Amino acid sequence: MARSAAVRPDQVRRHNLGLLLARIHQAGPLSRAELTTQLDLNRSTIGAFVSELCALGLLREEVPSSGSHAGRPSHMVGPRPDGPYAVAVDLEVDRLVIAAVGIGGAVLARRELRIRAPGRPDAVAGQIARAMPALAAKLPGCAWPIGVGVSVPGTVGRGNGEAAMVRFAPHLGWQDAPLGRLLGNQLAHAVPISLGNDADLAVIAEHLRGAAKDCDDVIYLAGKVGIGAGIMVDGHPLSGHGGLAGEVGHTPLDPNGPVCCCGSRGCVETFIGGSALLALAGHADQPAELPNVLRRARRGEPIATAAVTAVGTSLGRVLASLVNLLNPQRVILGGCLADVLELAGPQVSAALSQHAMPAAREMVELALPGLRADSSLLGAADLVFAPLLADPVGTVSRRIAAVS
Ligand SMILES: [Zn+2]
Repeated sequence: MARSAAVRPDQVRRHNLGLLLARIHQAGPLSRAELTTQLDLNRSTIGAFVSELCALGLLREEVPSSGSHAGRPSHMVGPRPDGPYAVAVDLEVDRLVIAAVGIGGAVLARRELRIRAPGRPDAVAGQIARAMPALAAKLPGCAWPIGVGVSVPGTVGRGNGEAAMVRFAPHLGWQDAPLGRLLGNQLAHAVPISLGNDADLAVIAEHLRGAAKDCDDVIYLAGKVGIGAGIMVDGHPLSGHGGLAGEVGHTPLDPNGPVCCCGSRGCVETFIGGSALLALAGHADQPAELPNVLRRARRGEPIATAAVTAVGTSLGRVLASLVNLLNPQRVILGGCLADVLELAGPQVSAALSQHAMPAAREMVELALPGLRADSSLLGAADLVFAPLLADPVGTVSRRIAAVS
């Protein structure tokens, strides 16, 4: 009979250090007493772990300046603002947001850059690399980047660093684009690089500290030019055999429908994506017009309102399929679908109720993103933080070895 390997005390200690750091990353500053309760470890162990994580330059303890409670104020353990940060990139079709994100998910600095069409992978990699020094200049001098995470509007293969590959991003016109290698070639200093699908990253971030932090069966439906879905089942991201699951946008809805950018016809995103909304409002192939169409719908202008209403009804049907298939507790609607929910909520709800199985329909709530437009960006930061949270001592040791 095979035996599992024994776990050394040092491994247990390093694992528990990661748990404490992950708790602060998710919840923000906590007192030692709260950490003792939440991690179910004794006070002296928590004290030793906090001291070690402070010595590693990851956390700090401080007495809150406000608070009128009598007695000795509790020291709060929180992230160091001049500690490590993730370079997070949210790549869209015509723009990218690049941000420095600290432990705890605080956006410390950010820039938004336009992408001139067609955004070739090497040109986009160059824009990201050139933006990083300007981002670092806004941070304290001793802050250090632990890696770059890029949220991509397309499917992403498994693999990090040089092997990080965008498999298929039809709205960018990219197929098998080696973005990890291209970015690595242009960085002034080597740091780990990881890529993720935008909706997959969004659902992870929303589950960690957004609109789904209290729920383990959740779908994030991202409405951009196209449609993507990040799916979490029983608290675990649904990735599929090759990491490509969740392409709800390319599920066939009508074989006689409009031609889709994927080469098929009548896919879901040709009915509910930003491009579909624009076409219905008379602005086909003008993505820059999307905010104006939504603004006109908010003012009640008839053409824009009719377009949003039609998308709302189709969205309700799509949600019914997802609800019947996956029985989620919550569906978060991001991007322009958040606007559709706000503007055409009754139509969305009516079509969902008409087509979903009653029991599953009763269980599901529709929600707006708790992290607003930053779900994918913060999910990209979480990709970068994952190795640090898994092993803070090892990650910091490797960084010290690399710079010395
Ligand atoms: Zn398609």
